[in-house]
Amino acid sequence: MKTLKDFNFKNKKAIIRVDFNVPLDENFNVTDATRIEAAKPTIDAILAQGGSVILMSHLGRPKGVEEKYSLKHILKTASDILGVPVQFASDCVGEVAKDAAANLKPGEVLLLENLRFHVEEEAGDVAFAKELASLGDIYVNDAFGTAHRAHASTTIIAQFFPNEKCFGTLLAKEIESLNKVLKNSEKPVTAVLGGSKVSSKITVIENILDKVDHMIIGGGMTFTFIKAQGGKVGDSICEDDKLELALEILRLAKEKGVQIHIPVDVIAADDFSNTANTQVVDVYAIPDGWQGLDAGPKSLANFEKVIMESKTILWNGPLGVFEMESFATGTIALGEFIAASTANGAFSLVGGGDSVAAVKQFGFEDKMSYVSTGGGAMLEMLEGRVLPGIAAILD
Ligand code: AMP
Repeated sequence: MKTLKDFNFKNKKAIIRVDFNVPLDENFNVTDATRIEAAKPTIDAILAQGGSVILMSHLGRPKGVEEKYSLKHILKTASDILGVPVQFASDCVGEVAKDAAANLKPGEVLLLENLRFHVEEEAGDVAFAKELASLGDIYVNDAFGTAHRAHASTTIIAQFFPNEKCFGTLLAKEIESLNKVLKNSEKPVTAVLGGSKVSSKITVIENILDKVDHMIIGGGMTFTFIKAQGGKVGDSICEDDKLELALEILRLAKEKGVQIHIPVDVIAADDFSNTANTQVVDVYAIPDGWQGLDAGPKSLANFEKVIMESKTILWNGPLGVFEMESFATGTIALGEFIAASTANGAFSLVGGGDSVAAVKQFGFEDKMSYVSTGGGAMLEMLEGRVLPGIAAILD
């Protein structure tokens, strides 16, 4: 796996695919600069060696050139974070980009305009990728969030750098963290899978059954498993067409010696609302008119025991409808268990969309070993897929 350490960037122009797809408010101020901060170590390392840096990214989902999606809006924030004035090319290809790249001196940083102003980016157009490639001497991919897409800047471009290509610090760390969980993991390994639906997590479940000792299944998925085993789930979210599949997962888990832990009690509500009436009920006997929206206290005690005994923990998906305060208790408790286990020496990886949002919202970010930056990309890796953006560098 080639990383920055394999190159000397002195007097070289590094063209880096970063993920600067940051949220902006109505006045085009960056409201969360996490992604820019995350790319800083890679950029700093290259500048420190006497190289220069050309940054390329997408922003939003523009249809053609749309002013509101211009990366010029983030220039000030990027300059502040990087501590150097970031130059800007008003197009990512063509004469403007070529001139700006050609004039770049060691220690300088150039940001190219939104890649997605050209349809060729997402189409993975080879000629477009070649034009981007012509701007730099070494290609660095540091964008995990788009590594599962075979776009021009994330994948296709790599072919124009047969040897001069590597992972940036952030992407290398993502891969390393996932490998720590899926490949070189210290046992016992526990995966916590929550979220809303079995159907969206099924491939993940199947793939990681081979890699874990314990699997905690929570969130909305709970009820498909409970109904499949003859329980009464009331009005809880349930995928009736996945009951057989749920039984098959339980059978497979048994065969593979994986212990499955499902909530035994839930906080049931008489409405999908923060102000609904609630009661703690047995997960197998949820009354009609009531729906399970969070894990109950007995379930949490069971989960705590499993988590505290684990040496490797993967967390994907909330245990309840954490967006509503009344049903956030389970997700917060889980975060606390994982934080405590991590403090005890376990390795914990959190990733995949909503769980990252939950971890940030409840302040657990610094208490986990690693919080992944890529939602979809992380899920695809957990599904056992080889991401095109990663494969292109390893090639
Ligand atoms: P996912 O995107 O599949 O990870 O699902 C995340 C969503 O699942 C969150 O928005 C939660 O509100 C939702 N969720 C978690 N538990 C439940 C539940 N018991 N019933 C309905 N939705 C849930």
